[in-house]
Amino acid sequence: MDTNALAGFHHLTAIVGDPQQNIDFYTRVLGQRLVKQTVNFDDPGTYHLYYGDEGGTPGTIITFFPWPDAPKGRRGTGQIVDISFSIPATALDYWVERLTEYGVAITGPTTRFNEQVLSFLDPHGLSLELIAHHGTQPHSAWKQGPVPEAYAIRGFFSVTLAETHQERTAKMLTDVLGFRPLQQEGNRFRYEVGDGGPGALIDVLSLPDQPRGRIAVGTVHHVAWRTADDEHQLRWRHHLLSHGSDVTPVQDRQYFHSIYFHEPGGVLFEIATDPPGFSIDEPVEQLGTHLKLPPRLEPSRSLIEKVLLPIRVPEENAGRSDLEV
Ligand code: ZN
Repeated sequence: MDTNALAGFHHLTAIVGDPQQNIDFYTRVLGQRLVKQTVNFDDPGTYHLYYGDEGGTPGTIITFFPWPDAPKGRRGTGQIVDISFSIPATALDYWVERLTEYGVAITGPTTRFNEQVLSFLDPHGLSLELIAHHGTQPHSAWKQGPVPEAYAIRGFFSVTLAETHQERTAKMLTDVLGFRPLQQEGNRFRYEVGDGGPGALIDVLSLPDQPRGRIAVGTVHHVAWRTADDEHQLRWRHHLLSHGSDVTPVQDRQYFHSIYFHEPGGVLFEIATDPPGFSIDEPVEQLGTHLKLPPRLEPSRSLIEKVLLPIRVPEENAGRSDLEV
């Protein structure tokens, strides 16, 4: 593997409403593990919730800012409009049944690049997809989750960007970020990065006449791409600066380090480091079971806990060694 290339997805971050509805849907219905319960570092009176596989492996992490009183957003151009998870091809019928049982309205299965796609919305209107993939899965499943391992979500498959000027975005993906054009179907252009395949795919929809989206509840805030460590991240930062990008200085996000910039269509991109990871402040067995704060916010813990809405984390979220206690 080329360690200088972006190694697919690190995480995706979206804005939603009520935190408990968010927890119930992503853990109980989709079978993800809540791997971190923390606050929005820029707005510590609100949560930042992270879900993923057992340890929160980069490429499986979806994170949310739950803002119960914020207005609803609008899907449109200049946005990430769909988040797609990878499931084994043999899991398609299981998911049709499971989602239906939980009262989730499904569109599909439809066919895209010869694969079956189930589309649905989360409780706050965020557009999600499950892609039934025949080949090797990008990640392993969370074995102790409520969904049997054979059917469980295996991390992200792809994201879809909607753009009025597809070619501008394509140029940055290929010329600056190292993506390669892979396939085209109608107005959908697929690119891959790093080793390619599920977990390293981006689809760009060319929608020249569509209005811009508005980022609020039910929309994606940004996508983060994965880099090995701080040194590689600094190289990416210099590379982006040399291409005239608006890249930020490195930000310490406690569980990874981040730089942010916009692609020409307006979508916020991040490049995040693999280390230090989610076990930096609680053991893997206990991930997501307690509110964790960065050291600078610890002195305000009692105030923060008073302001945050109370939440319940499902018992099965704790790892095996916890259950044995
Ligand atoms: Zn991020």
